Amino acid sequence: MGISDKAGSHWVDYEGDMTACQVTIRNLSHSYGDDEPLRVLDDISLDVQPGQFVSIVGPSGCGKSTLLRAIGGLLTPTSGEVMVDEQTPRQLQQKMGIGFVFQDPALLPWRSVRKNIDLPLEVAGGRTRRAGRKAVRELLDLVGLREFSSYPPYQLSGGMQQRVAIARALAFDPPLLLMDEPFGALDEITREAMRQELQRIWAAARKTVFFVTHSIREAALLSDRVIVLSPRPARVLGSFEVTLPRPRTEQTEDDPEFLACIGTLREALRLAA
Ligand code: ADP
Ligand code: MG
Repeated sequence: MGISDKAGSHWVDYEGDMTACQVTIRNLSHSYGDDEPLRVLDDISLDVQPGQFVSIVGPSGCGKSTLLRAIGGLLTPTSGEVMVDEQTPRQLQQKMGIGFVFQDPALLPWRSVRKNIDLPLEVAGGRTRRAGRKAVRELLDLVGLREFSSYPPYQLSGGMQQRVAIARALAFDPPLLLMDEPFGALDEITREAMRQELQRIWAAARKTVFFVTHSIREAALLSDRVIVLSPRPARVLGSFEVTLPRPRTEQTEDDPEFLACIGTLREALRLAA
């Protein structure tokens, strides 16, 4: 997908190939609070290749969101480091190089779909230089919402709202996409559809993705690799490659290889508990 700047009004300070990035995590530990520190991340090290789709699973409260926030530069870890290509997450974030999608799509109710997607570009407007934005139209097509461009969010279903949030996260064509239980608030049928949708979007956009979920099935279906975390403080219990062919559909879920994969992940989590 090309980068275009048809409107010519928004410019981004982009350098190099921003398609996807390598992420290196070294001995990352984090505790919250000073007096009685709560240890949440315990010596996490990971190497993620450009364009990989990586899921993070683990019991509730183990530290998944904390890990994602550290990767996204939203939190300074107590020790250890995260590098994204040659930069810190914060440096990449300042260049609009990280897209975030949370459980709540957090759309502005008074702005249309198009204007919600356009918001980060509008906010960044002044201080940007080189063209690096996706035309909003291209993003609308990517998430299949062209016909709904002028709709207000309240006229969309939950799944559609979350697709707007994904488009908004991709507005700067960031090499890194961080998703924290993005389908957690959706009903199972919509969730199933969104899994297909996300695979299609990822195949087209080829970002490096970290995807937090507590659904083992979801992780196995979407990922190249699944990282299993222990209960708090989170340690990496295992990293599992999922080599099933794509696209993975509902039929994939009957595939013996898929079932074996689920079994392995379940076992890893059970051993931790
Ligand atoms: P998960 O996403 O796996 O459910 P979190 O990373 O959100 O887990 O939280 C891990 C632990 O850290 C929990 O015990 C939570 O209460 C605690 N925690 C999360 N954020 C903060 C914060 N900002 N300050 C203090 N404690 C926090
Ligand atoms: Mg969480």
